[in-house]
Amino acid sequence: MTKSTFPLKKRILCIIPTVMETLTLTVLGSGTGIPSLARSSSSIMIEIEGELLLFDVGPGTMRRLLESGITIDRISYLFISHLHPDHTGEFVSLLFAGKYSGMEKRRTPLTIIGAKGLVNFYNGLRRVYGKWIEMAANALVIHEMDKEKRDFMEFDSFDVTTMPMDHIESSIGFRVVLPDGRSLVYTGDTDYCENAVELSRDTDILVCEAAFPDEMKVEGHLTPSLSGKIATESKAGVLVLTHFYPECMGVDIEAQCRDTYKGDLILAEDLMQIELFPGGVMKRMTP
Ligand SMILES: [Zn+2]
Ligand SMILES: [Zn+2]
Repeated sequence: MTKSTFPLKKRILCIIPTVMETLTLTVLGSGTGIPSLARSSSSIMIEIEGELLLFDVGPGTMRRLLESGITIDRISYLFISHLHPDHTGEFVSLLFAGKYSGMEKRRTPLTIIGAKGLVNFYNGLRRVYGKWIEMAANALVIHEMDKEKRDFMEFDSFDVTTMPMDHIESSIGFRVVLPDGRSLVYTGDTDYCENAVELSRDTDILVCEAAFPDEMKVEGHLTPSLSGKIATESKAGVLVLTHFYPECMGVDIEAQCRDTYKGDLILAEDLMQIELFPGGVMKRMTP
């Protein structure tokens, strides 16, 4: 796979920023459910004003968090795009580790946001694991979003819009918007769909799956050129491709995406950081 050569991007935003905070995206897992030393299972993290938002928690996420210098007690929000194990496999371990008394005490509850069915999923896990994963009543909040249509929720330092994606029944994509209008979209797993375009409309950063090369298209997943089509149609500022199956190895993913997309492109790698500051986006690699 070729590496993206993505320079500092300068862009004039339509909305004059009132908050000078940087939104930092850290790719924790750019891979899938297939074990890989280079690509951990699906997870990204966003930092906004010191608050940490985790999106999906595939196997290996907590280790990647540590490699990013983050302990799990600092995570305030967990967004779950859908219930496939490569996106939720470490959820139980996250809850279990959170009960360790040596862990620094969480100052805010862990707020979990996903599609309707998430409470049922959590209760199912509780039936299996019982008190080993049960958090104190005031330490866990679960918000279920509509899985049939657009939904919206406001938090202190951001708001989030969700829309159903074309993958499995519980799949939703997230659009996080800062008070100054800057935004990031995370599609989770999806096939090409109108909702993916609409959710990503004019977003600054679009983190989009590109699971398989164009010539190996799988139903319910995107290819680089289809991800590019979504980014072009939505006029996304920067496209970040992720969720690469082993079939992507040795394939020129960037070239395939370029068939449909001419804008700024980043191929995600684990522990890569991308900053969205007022006026532009910058990528930097971290070890
Ligand atoms: Zn999936
Ligand atoms: Zn997946």
